Amino acid sequence: KKLGWALVGLGSLSKNQIAPALLKTKRARLAAIVTGTPAKADEWKAKYSIPDTHVYNYETFDKIAENPDVDVIYIVLPNGMHEEFVVRAAKAGKHVFCEKPMANTADECRRMIAAVKAAGKMLGVGYRCQFEPHHRECMRLAKEKVFGPLKFIEAGFGFQIGDPKQWRLRKNLAGGGALMDVGVYALQACRYLTGEEPIEITAQETKTDPVKFAEVDETISWSMKFPSGVLASVMTTYAFNGSNFFTAICQGGRFGMDPAYSYDGLKGWTSKPDVKIEFPATDHFEVEVDAFSDAILNNKPFAQSGEEGLRDLLAVEAIYRSIKEGKAAKVEAP
Ligand code: NAD
Repeated sequence: KKLGWALVGLGSLSKNQIAPALLKTKRARLAAIVTGTPAKADEWKAKYSIPDTHVYNYETFDKIAENPDVDVIYIVLPNGMHEEFVVRAAKAGKHVFCEKPMANTADECRRMIAAVKAAGKMLGVGYRCQFEPHHRECMRLAKEKVFGPLKFIEAGFGFQIGDPKQWRLRKNLAGGGALMDVGVYALQACRYLTGEEPIEITAQETKTDPVKFAEVDETISWSMKFPSGVLASVMTTYAFNGSNFFTAICQGGRFGMDPAYSYDGLKGWTSKPDVKIEFPATDHFEVEVDAFSDAILNNKPFAQSGEEGLRDLLAVEAIYRSIKEGKAAKVEAP
């Protein structure tokens, strides 16, 4: 059986990644769309054979409750709109999948988790790398101590952002800058390589363009301490290209990925010639959508849950707190 998925927000990610992936998924199909732009609705209806009855705008969205063809609602809107639409989707009695970062703040995440729980539905967060085979192999290498105990991680993800008018540079819509958008990938990598939550964070920020980045962070580097004693040194930026990697330094060798977080062309490497990290290309969105659908259909727990999204936001908030206070910050409990 294929579950019917509705896409909310038909921007770049929905158009170029998620909708094409939904043509390949084994357990999911694109059943409905929600958009504020009538011209997009016409284009999508024709391209994906979606009937008029399965097209909503942001005002009519709540009527999706009456549509039995929709099982899951995927929120692909700017970060600051995730809470409103996740809560409305839950109230419509549907399972909810939400893009990363889960929301602007940890408190928003808590309310989203509570709303989906009250509806008796499942909530997933779009951490695509966690389904990707190179990343999964790196998690295994760390967990099984193939290179001995993990000691130190270096990671970073950034890019030079274009259009100064886009929502990613507006605090209310984005929650923050590079850290919220791409820094979370490097943060996630540290969390799933250690299998632990950071306890203390020290962060520094630099802003070379205070006009463009008047509302959000431009470049941040931070150090995270994990309970086992592992330290991670991480960076993110909106000011330049070139950082898209992680390196895991273990007692008896090293491994990593570079590039690590792109949609394709990922490369793994290790310090031992006989240990390779090589896998065929995977559509990250196809595997994550099928994994969530499978969890719903078979009533299985889903690791990339609302709680997982919340844990990222707790670390993000500690990073911002450390910058503001100029000292180490403890990561709050969920
Ligand atoms: P986008 O700007 O291309 O699309 C955003 C969509 O939201 C557009 O269709 C726009 O019309 C709509 N929208 C509704 N109200 C809006 C408002 N007030 N301001 C701006 N847009 C509004 O963005 P995107 O790249 O598709 O990102 C959407 C979400 O997906 C974000 O949460 C982002 O972090 C996430 N994302 C995830 C990945 C990933 O690899 N998992 C990649 C890109 C984006």
